[in-house]
Amino acid sequence: MSNHYVVLSRKYRPKNLNDLIGQEVMAQFIRTCLDENKVPHAFLFHGIRGVGKTTTARILARCLSCTGTGDDSSIHRSSPCGICRSCLAIDRDSHMDVMEFDAASRTGVDDVREIIESTQYAPALGKFKIFIIDEVHMLSKSAFNSLLKTLEEPPLHVKFIFATTELNKVPETVLSRCMTFQLNPIPTVKLAGYILNIANKEGFVIEEEAADIVATESGGSVRDALSILDQIMMLSYRDKNITSDTVIKVIGRARRCDIEEILELILASKTSEAVQLAERVIVNGCAPFALYGGLQSALYRRITERVKKKDGKLSTLLYLWQIFLKQTENMKSAEHPEHVLIAAIIILAYTASFPNIESMMIKNTQANQNKSDSLIQKILTKFPGSDVTEVE
Ligand SMILES: [Zn+2]
Repeated sequence: MSNHYVVLSRKYRPKNLNDLIGQEVMAQFIRTCLDENKVPHAFLFHGIRGVGKTTTARILARCLSCTGTGDDSSIHRSSPCGICRSCLAIDRDSHMDVMEFDAASRTGVDDVREIIESTQYAPALGKFKIFIIDEVHMLSKSAFNSLLKTLEEPPLHVKFIFATTELNKVPETVLSRCMTFQLNPIPTVKLAGYILNIANKEGFVIEEEAADIVATESGGSVRDALSILDQIMMLSYRDKNITSDTVIKVIGRARRCDIEEILELILASKTSEAVQLAERVIVNGCAPFALYGGLQSALYRRITERVKKKDGKLSTLLYLWQIFLKQTENMKSAEHPEHVLIAAIIILAYTASFPNIESMMIKNTQANQNKSDSLIQKILTKFPGSDVTEVE
């Protein structure tokens, strides 16, 4: 591996709207805005970390700045040419008209004043002066206030692009002046496919299950997924073969099939077998909290599957779910979380042996029916010749 290793999230950072994964609807909307030349003066992208907010902001800046070559300067701005001075400058992070601020470190009114002042000057290279403000919710109240007027009526050559992980902390007065887009977490299947593809491009063979674990672990964040892949590739550099065992070692997770089997054993009240398998999974490198979370997710999947299939036998699963929630706090505060995990498995397996409400109701209904039948029988015996209709 070269001494100048570039992390994957940087190496494969998308440069065009078409390269964004999992954000197709938003990409299409922005494409239309650009191609129809109806571009608002302020955008706001929000969503969890690592889903592409800043990347989208930079792509948008690239689209808006591209001057094209020759006659095509005013068309197809949603597909920047990649070769004009503007495109090249943006790719080098050195475009003088594109200014990026991190509101987490520059929160004050003076920082915003600096932005407002520079909006007065015409762009030097491209068509617009573009201000990207990352984590915009971190701006102080006075900073937001001083930004408002400019945001309301910015000079025609100015575009603001904001990104935030906490939309609820952005004042309504700012939101109402922006075109707002939510970037969704990337679906696990799509992210797993992406990981598979990147690993292959890097010359690695990765098991499908391994890619799936990476995608699940990253919770829909592309950056987190690529960061995990960075670490795994370091470990597997010699044989270029990434197995699910390697992934489990790196991220301290359990195999999905093991999790499903433990849950199956719990539901069958096979306490001893469930505990033995859980202990084996922990010895193999899975963090107790990760196994606990995996079991909880598996139970959640089981509940939602039954709801979708309109299978009414939910009471035991819902009761187990309640136990899971109660034990979560204990797990967080425990000195030995593995003890809480094993104890929880024992409680769950024991509880799963209780008769569920639905079967009790069926039994009660059956008992009531029997009682009613016997009463009718008694009446019929007492009044020979009567039939059921008359008795009623
Ligand atoms: Zn260009």
